[in-house]
Amino acid sequence: MSKRKTLKALLERHERALVIGTGAILLTAFLMNLEFNWIESSLYDFRMRTGTQPTPSEEIILLSVDDRTLTSLDELAPVPLEHHVKLLELLEKSHPRAIGYLVDMNRVAQTYPDQVRNEWGGRFVGVASRLETSGTPFILGTPFDINGEVVPPYPLSAVPHAVSVIHKDGNVFGEDKITRRALLGLYGKPSFHLELAHRLGGPDLDSPIRGQFSDASIDASYFFFRYFGATGYGPKAGAKTGYPVYSMIDVLEGRIPRSKLENKIVLVGSMSRTDSEDYAFTPYSKRPFVNPKLVVHANILDAVIHNRGIVRSPDWLNWITTFLMTAFVIWSVFTYTPLYGVFNTLLLALGFLLVGQILFSIRGLWIRESQPLVGIFLSYYLAVPYRLIQEYKRRWDYQQKNEILMQVEELKTNFLRLVTHDLKTPVARIQGLAEMVLRKAGPKLEEAEQENVRHIMKSTEELNHFITSVLELTKVESNRVTLNLESKDVNQVLERLVERFDAQSKAMNIPLTLELEPLFPIKIDASLIGKVLTNIIDNAMKYSPKGSSVTIRTRDLGETVEISVIDQGIGLSKEELANLFTRFYRAKNDQTTKISGTGLGLYLTKFFVEAHSGRVEVESEKGKGSTFKIILPSDLRSESVQPGLRTSANQNQVPNQGAK
Ligand code: ADP
Repeated sequence: MSKRKTLKALLERHERALVIGTGAILLTAFLMNLEFNWIESSLYDFRMRTGTQPTPSEEIILLSVDDRTLTSLDELAPVPLEHHVKLLELLEKSHPRAIGYLVDMNRVAQTYPDQVRNEWGGRFVGVASRLETSGTPFILGTPFDINGEVVPPYPLSAVPHAVSVIHKDGNVFGEDKITRRALLGLYGKPSFHLELAHRLGGPDLDSPIRGQFSDASIDASYFFFRYFGATGYGPKAGAKTGYPVYSMIDVLEGRIPRSKLENKIVLVGSMSRTDSEDYAFTPYSKRPFVNPKLVVHANILDAVIHNRGIVRSPDWLNWITTFLMTAFVIWSVFTYTPLYGVFNTLLLALGFLLVGQILFSIRGLWIRESQPLVGIFLSYYLAVPYRLIQEYKRRWDYQQKNEILMQVEELKTNFLRLVTHDLKTPVARIQGLAEMVLRKAGPKLEEAEQENVRHIMKSTEELNHFITSVLELTKVESNRVTLNLESKDVNQVLERLVERFDAQSKAMNIPLTLELEPLFPIKIDASLIGKVLTNIIDNAMKYSPKGSSVTIRTRDLGETVEISVIDQGIGLSKEELANLFTRFYRAKNDQTTKISGTGLGLYLTKFFVEAHSGRVEVESEKGKGSTFKIILPSDLRSESVQPGLRTSANQNQVPNQGAK
């Protein structure tokens, strides 16, 4: 039992952490089972486009079998083998560093089978082998089909060849036919690019290229390659490929100086504008024919030579980032105000994208962003309603509690009213009887007995005062006070009051001095204001030593009338001042313990003055005396009465101000 209790307590204490943790784990597990390829590939392309790009290798040049070549040779695609042979013989003389021949020789062989079979075929193989022996790598790029590499027919098959396909994201990842990855090997044989790079002294055939991964289903390996500078190329944009492009015809007709070809890695390929087969989609634009395949080949080759692959972050890292992001968002929604919650979520998403971009540009690291990003927004949209529900629940609890409190308060007020009301009569009777005893039997009683009867009278007087105050309080709190406004001269009210204090003033030896400025009559409830002033003057005398004096001053301040009661009494500390108007508050110190009181006088004073749209101000210093100021508006009309009051001129209801 106790174990279960401690577990419950533990759960309650860590409820928030548990909700955040479980929520983040569940969301992460859910998201990791989904693929957001469209988002991921779009973000991938965005990074590729906007990040820093490595400079294209200056060694690579492109020889394009373009439309100009076709028209000049008066041929249709594909260009007959004889021209390729002539080109190769010319290139041989220029001593290039390597030649990658990306013209589909199967197509050439199909269209010109005789040329392949007779001397041109032989001459082609001849040049190739001479290049090989002179240490110039020469590789023929070949297509592949379901059976593997499509090797060109004899005798061209004798030339070194390797598969040189441009891979498109067809049914995996982007599914948008964009070329993001390149083939490195197929059925255990290196691809055209790897073979050529290797022969040029590049990577070892056995050690993998950075970011290399295999596709076991077709025994192939790939890598996500970097684009080096293939931006903005298109039929309209001109040959802005990052690599120099020369037309085949210009080489054939000797217009390209030898120096441009010497020691270069020459890639020869078709680039006819009328043939969509010659073009590929790249991450730079989704417009068709955006980059010639030849340019893409150059980029792949460059990436293999310089080992610049993109490394995809492992799955566990994706799990961790998704978990952390969702946990952070849920935590921030639970912790901060809604505005900060949105702000934090957006900031986190942007920060994450920025870090992703930097790592991609500088380290070639591809942090997968789709799951964490979807996680950020999904967790936000799930956490907000959860928080709302929690908050609603809490508010409901408060409301329940509040209602109970109000009921208790009402019960208490009713009880007080009933008790005090019932006490009134017996107390009055005791008082009357005591008076009668003193009057009739007084002279017969001894001095000590007379004193006792006077004590009875004084105590019943105090009890009476208490009962009246409590009844007043219950009236105030149950909304049963009415304002009977009438035009009155406050000075007259004061003069009459002071007369009543005459006996007390003499007994205590505290003279009351009146300093009254002439005043216009103002609208007040004379009975309530009378109670207010009585209490203030009574306090001034009660809390002053014998022999001191109390001054009552009135001033006309134009818009207001100010009544000040100034004493030279015990004064109030800062803390006492702060609580002065609280119900039942009485300052507790050596001087006040012997003085009887209810602690209700000032509470009622403030209430009654505010009901007149006025205010009470106190200035006091411990040991030096206090000044209580009652400030009443001089144009107290029905509209200016405190909001909530009923505005009939003579019957204004004072609102319930509730407990302080
Ligand atoms: P009480 O019936 O105790 O006088 P009040 O609400 O009228 O109740 O006053 C609250 C407390 O404020 C008093 O108990 C007293 O400590 C303090 N107080 C009121 N007036 C004065 C004054 N003129 N000088 C010093 N203390 C005062």
